[in-house]
Amino acid sequence: MLETKTVRVGSNVLIGSGHPIVVQTMCNTHTSDVEATVAQCRRLAAVGSQLIRITVPSMKDVPCLEEIRRRLRAEGIGTPLVADIHFSPEIAMAVVPIVEKIRINPGNFHPDHDKARELFGQFIEKCREYDRAIRIGLNHGSLGKYIIDKYGNTPEAMALAAFEWVRMCQEANFHNVVVSLKASNTVVMVQAYRRLAAMMQESGVVYPLHVGVTEAGNGDSGRIKSSVAISTLLSEGIGNTIRVSLTEDPANEIPVAQYLAHRYGLPVAVGNDEGRHTKPDRVSLSAREEAILKAACDWGAPLLNHEIDDIPIEDEYLKDEIMQACRRRFYKPEYIACPGCGRTLYDLENTFNKVKERTSHFKDVVIAVMGCIVNGPGEMADADYGYVGEGFGKVTLYRKKDPVLRHIPEDEAVDRLVELIEGDSSLRSE
Ligand code: SF4
Repeated sequence: MLETKTVRVGSNVLIGSGHPIVVQTMCNTHTSDVEATVAQCRRLAAVGSQLIRITVPSMKDVPCLEEIRRRLRAEGIGTPLVADIHFSPEIAMAVVPIVEKIRINPGNFHPDHDKARELFGQFIEKCREYDRAIRIGLNHGSLGKYIIDKYGNTPEAMALAAFEWVRMCQEANFHNVVVSLKASNTVVMVQAYRRLAAMMQESGVVYPLHVGVTEAGNGDSGRIKSSVAISTLLSEGIGNTIRVSLTEDPANEIPVAQYLAHRYGLPVAVGNDEGRHTKPDRVSLSAREEAILKAACDWGAPLLNHEIDDIPIEDEYLKDEIMQACRRRFYKPEYIACPGCGRTLYDLENTFNKVKERTSHFKDVVIAVMGCIVNGPGEMADADYGYVGEGFGKVTLYRKKDPVLRHIPEDEAVDRLVELIEGDSSLRSE
């Protein structure tokens, strides 16, 4: 395993080499709905999520986060909370006193890069003052203009972009830092993490890595896509905490993550709740689920590394799914779907299933289904078409990065998406 610093989150969750891989997930409730979020955290802690991330979309959600934490601690649930912050340094600063860890992309702190650096420097100092952990979290789909102009939109660019913030932490002698570089494309994701791991090794200070495939989708495809990429990295000793991101109930992510953590030889740490809570129950996998994950882990690395070109299994469906997850052969559209969070503006899971049912006959297209208009369009990465919730029952449809149909009522939006793809397919075939 890559030798890393040890990051402490709260009083007793340790992330880094020599410590068991930490399994985590994120709430998909609205943070302003304190009851629902507390109930979901309770369930996630019980099934074994060792960190729980909660989005904080606005300043109005900060007191809600505080109340969620207060209620959980009053119930004896000590699972450390991670605030997920997009864009706003003000919100990032405001949550430092409340939660154990904060996930930010410092590059989005300000459009002026020098100003973003200054704000990140202030943020580091506040985290030092409160003894908090930071996750520097960059995604392939949201690298930002400064980075793309400078380095292009590549795994190398992702690693370089993250390394700039890593360097700032190193120089500030602040080492309670975890880094993630997620992508929905498994090849890009694996290359980006490998590159960043090598850069940190060369620098002499290696921070633990949070590994995951973003917008992996749901069902077998989501599990397989996550497993091929995460297992490839874990088998190389890269990865200290994992999230298997699924467009489903977040509790469903935990057994998949636990399987991966166990398979790579490091028992999942338990008892992160300051001794006030009993050992979390393990969620068991069905025999079929286990067989799927095993096959994805067995064949993921050799396919992603181009050591083999096919896999010797008889189950054609499973073979197709694994080949597509590794981007070696596409037998159906490639789907990107965010897992949903407190920003989600519609019934994401059912809509995604409906989109899949209605578009499965298209070939060679990438279709994204995203929960919110704030981050969805940026996070769709290389999608050909996007279905993005606007809120208030309306949807915007995208062709590549361009919004082509806005304010479509939700009950018409899947039909309009199918028409849009069909129209483009017939133009291509003329
Ligand atoms: S794109 Fe999805 S997961 Fe990302 S912030 Fe929006 S709703 Fe949340």
